Amino acid sequence: MTTVDFHIDPSLPVMPEIRYTLEQFAVNKKINVQFGASGFLVSDAVNSNLSISKKLINNLRERRCDYKENLGATGFIEFENGTPDYLGTAFYMLACLQEYHAAAQKDNLGRFKFSGSYQAAYQNSGQNIVQICFDKLAEKLSIPNRANPSRFFLSHDIDTVYGAIVQDGFHALKFGRIDILLKLILNTVTQKPDWLNMDQIMKLESEYDVRSTFFWIVKRGKAEAFENADYNFKSSSIQKVVRTVESNGFENGLHKSISQDSFQKEIGEFEKKPVANRYHYLKFNLPQGFDAIENSGLKLDASLGFAENIGFRNSYGLPYNPFDVTNRKPYTFVEVPLHIMDTTLFKYNRANLAEAREKILKFFEANKTNCVLSVLWHNNFFTNYKYKGYLQLYKEILEYIRENKLSAVTQRELLQYSAY
Ligand SMILES: [Zn+2]
Repeated sequence: MTTVDFHIDPSLPVMPEIRYTLEQFAVNKKINVQFGASGFLVSDAVNSNLSISKKLINNLRERRCDYKENLGATGFIEFENGTPDYLGTAFYMLACLQEYHAAAQKDNLGRFKFSGSYQAAYQNSGQNIVQICFDKLAEKLSIPNRANPSRFFLSHDIDTVYGAIVQDGFHALKFGRIDILLKLILNTVTQKPDWLNMDQIMKLESEYDVRSTFFWIVKRGKAEAFENADYNFKSSSIQKVVRTVESNGFENGLHKSISQDSFQKEIGEFEKKPVANRYHYLKFNLPQGFDAIENSGLKLDASLGFAENIGFRNSYGLPYNPFDVTNRKPYTFVEVPLHIMDTTLFKYNRANLAEAREKILKFFEANKTNCVLSVLWHNNFFTNYKYKGYLQLYKEILEYIRENKLSAVTQRELLQYSAY
């Protein structure tokens, strides 16, 4: 691996932020970076090898995180002469700085809202902007840019196992399908509820030669007026499935409940300690959400996505180490941002199937290289009643992966994106 030396101007007050950005750049370009008294000069002077804008430096010092005070008309942070600051923009987006703006809008679950984001304002949620920044920096330093085929991270959050009787049953009744209702009841009383369907999901994915991760909630019932699992994670029927997932070469993870319970307590419910988490309802805030992952000892988190919109929440296509803004240092865990979720289309966008398909394919086509595209399909979207058509849509995603000769990544492969 090539090693590239950098000399960061010691008078710059943003040394840790620049180092971090260049370390992530190194993972992207598959190079090593070293910092010392010689090498490419990084400073706030426009004629240095790499420059960072005084605007970002000042905004960081004064903790001005609002995108309106940082990004210019082009959607990049700009130098005084109006040209893009690629180094500064990459940092701003990787660190999710817009979410630290004190007046940032939150929804009823306390989540950062898509409608208040720069992605909504600039309509660029489908663009891998940090990749553009990294490619421009590499060009400037004569480091080769390669386009690697994108890969997929497929996952299933298991919120409900017994809900089919209510949700699909109600749907069946509404349409006068007593036959379907009776079948659902029969499956429930014979201990084979329709949404305990992980074997069906694994069989389908195996036909396309891909593997996925199942995220489990260990806490049952309501908390803070929101539903957690409707199943008992410790029950023998669920534990049997968890072990089957593992023995089939698929993977499990923690789907952190909404509750006061610690990560430690929830991780302790697993027979085999999980490596990865995704927050239930994607309910987390920064920095607390990332701090908790770091302190838990987990190695992966897969929560960074907008509930209401498909695309990039941090404008970067690859898994990466986020930045601890409070302590001005990188986190050591790997964040695997989430891009496509069934409920975004079904619930938030109220898209019909044709619209949903078009949105998904448009996003894939625009990001065929240099990404790990993360797709979440809940187990209850695999039955053809209330969520009719979503099973077919998921098959089309698997078809897309196969036709384009792409592949799905495992959790272990995701860990390789860590710079630390
Ligand atoms: Zn969930």
